[in-house]
Amino acid sequence: MEIDAAREVRTTCPYCGVGCGVLAKVAADGQVSVRGDPDHPANFGRLCSKGSALAETIDLDGRLLHPEIHGRRAGWDEALDLVASTFSQTIAEHGPDAVAFYVSGQLLTEDYYVANKLMKGFVGSANIDTNSRLCMASSVAGHRRAFGSDTVPGTYDDLELADLIVLVGSNLAWCHPVLYQRIAAAREKRPEMKIVLVDPRRTMTADIADMHLAIAPDGDVALFTGLLAYLGQHNALDRAYITAHTTGFGQALFAASVLDLAGVAAATGLSEDELGRFYGLFAATPKTVTVYSQGVNQSSSGTDKVNAIINCHLATGRIGRPGEGPFSVTGQPNAMGGREVGGMANMLAAHMEIENPEHRERVQRFWNAPAIAGKPGLKAVEMFQALAEGRIKALWIMATNPVDSMPDADAVEAAIKACPFVVVSDVLAETDTVRHAHVRLPAAAWGEKDGTVTNSERRISRQRAFLPMPGEARPDWLIVAEVGMRMGFGGAFSYETPGEVFAEHAALSGFENDGARDFDIGAYGEIDGEGYEALEPFQWPAPSRADPFWPAGHLPLEGGDTQLRGLRTSSSAGDWRKPSGELISPLEGEMAGRPEGVGTTELQPIRFFADGGYFTPDRKARFIAIRPTTEIRTSPDYPLILNTGRIRDHWHTMTRTGKSPRLSQHIAEPFVEIHPVDAQRFGIGDADIARVSSPRGDVLVRALVTARQRQGSLFAPMHWTDQFAAKGRLDTLTAPLTDPISGQPALKHVAVRIEKFAAK
Ligand code: SF4
Repeated sequence: MEIDAAREVRTTCPYCGVGCGVLAKVAADGQVSVRGDPDHPANFGRLCSKGSALAETIDLDGRLLHPEIHGRRAGWDEALDLVASTFSQTIAEHGPDAVAFYVSGQLLTEDYYVANKLMKGFVGSANIDTNSRLCMASSVAGHRRAFGSDTVPGTYDDLELADLIVLVGSNLAWCHPVLYQRIAAAREKRPEMKIVLVDPRRTMTADIADMHLAIAPDGDVALFTGLLAYLGQHNALDRAYITAHTTGFGQALFAASVLDLAGVAAATGLSEDELGRFYGLFAATPKTVTVYSQGVNQSSSGTDKVNAIINCHLATGRIGRPGEGPFSVTGQPNAMGGREVGGMANMLAAHMEIENPEHRERVQRFWNAPAIAGKPGLKAVEMFQALAEGRIKALWIMATNPVDSMPDADAVEAAIKACPFVVVSDVLAETDTVRHAHVRLPAAAWGEKDGTVTNSERRISRQRAFLPMPGEARPDWLIVAEVGMRMGFGGAFSYETPGEVFAEHAALSGFENDGARDFDIGAYGEIDGEGYEALEPFQWPAPSRADPFWPAGHLPLEGGDTQLRGLRTSSSAGDWRKPSGELISPLEGEMAGRPEGVGTTELQPIRFFADGGYFTPDRKARFIAIRPTTEIRTSPDYPLILNTGRIRDHWHTMTRTGKSPRLSQHIAEPFVEIHPVDAQRFGIGDADIARVSSPRGDVLVRALVTARQRQGSLFAPMHWTDQFAAKGRLDTLTAPLTDPISGQPALKHVAVRIEKFAAK
């Protein structure tokens, strides 16, 4: 690849699910610089600390540059032949379910698509799951239960247009910083906007909250079932919407009425006064968005929490209209793209369902595949348990580090070590997972490869290469396709470009789509290389090819405009740009005053369900009857609840952010937050080294005594590994306990004890 030092490349940040647009440039001396893309509708030029430090994390230090077999350098042909022949032989001897892929929300959609196609359509197993199972599977399950599809109804603009934002288990200030910045900016312009934070901890996000509800761990189901009962009791329902567009309301309300206000107070640890003020505010504010992320999802009752929230929005008809709706924000940059291509063990590509025979037949026919997985595969935790039991005999791990990030991490490491054949494709030569691989395959990194990602508001954006691939690194989609061809699946994997993969993925999404599915970008099935290169960020469902706003320059259409809906208007209707030419958000547009004659239809972000049209057989949303329960999982030996999470300037297991001294300055070492009363009870002083133990392991961390922490609970970040801190692998403590519906691990609720290890 030739570097053009004069060119700024439009790409997308590889960190969180906000999906910010980035402009990257390589100077003549090789120095990389990045800035926010002012034209990207996710961030309008903003970047957070991680995004703005991206240039500091691009170096070849520690890179895996050549294929390796048992630690010796090998050629690509030898390595790929070995992977293909070992997988084929294992399938022949033990059946398709004896092999598995464990993939990642870091993969691009094209990578995800090819891996999913190989496993589900050609191996004939659904044993492909993703580390996104750890961050948002409960939201997926909750959406499917309520809406009949995995559809996020709203958009980021709703966060600026709402009069009330309820943030549940979501520290946006640190984990989705640009969304936080957008809310904070909107709040300055609209002081009437109210923000309620529901979180056991007083996080940085509380700084803009009007009300912080320091809820007991896993008290969310009780909080939102209590809210549904309150809405019913106070005549705050939208009965017309309930009647026209939903089913099951009566049962849901009956189940929610199990607890009276005093019962909800006991289950949530909140006072009746706090509950009354929150419930009253919610009931009185039509324009309400409820945002939730890991604090809701990472729970053994995660799916019920999601549905308890959605129930309240259905009951008030607050969904799919500007400034209204339940809104799950994803953790990873392409968790949503993985959902679209069936990168989860219980889904097929294009949001089709593995348990639906018609969908299976349709996908198999589209792929012209010899087989199609007939049942859901193993979800992440189950997959590593099957590995430990010897049921999986060949495993391929792509772009993730489960030895440090899976719950019960030591057991996961032991299972990987015992597996007869482990392949890892990664950018790094040495992680706690890579070191156990029999075959190591060098993958291209961010900035070196092309593809697409989808952010939390369903917006598909391009990632573009601006650096050459170093050594012998290859993009993941190509590595998987090469293995597919060597397994004898020939033409089905003979892609030459990621654009070809994207076009096939798009065509499948529109293939015999009878309107009973939400995800449709089928019109992009005819995109050519030039169109793929020029692809602008757009939300799904994509406008149909008959839409006047189709990008005629990108697709072989006649007439029309060259702009995309959701990003720019047609030239005839004017646009939402500042005099400088910079794109502005709809809110800012409203504030500045709309120029005379400017059209808005094409500017509206794409929302779902304001007028029903759910993707259930009867096209109605389903209320889910949920009974609040309070599960106490502490014991005299392990009397505290550990809440695990993230900090502002590090990402996952620090394999990228650990390279930046600037990012490491923010918080330099692993820590545990403890309430002063608990600190006194357990003899812990501020800045002491503490040992935190669960029945599975222990870590040594710096104690931070703070009243921000709820009494009875601890908080510790999940980023540090033994590479960065001695005895710092937090997930050696966590349990393989999962939500029974989504299979998502309960990483926010681990019973532990704490003791002083050494004074400061
Ligand atoms: Fe990247 Fe997320 Fe920060 Fe945006 S908010 S710059 S996507 S880490």
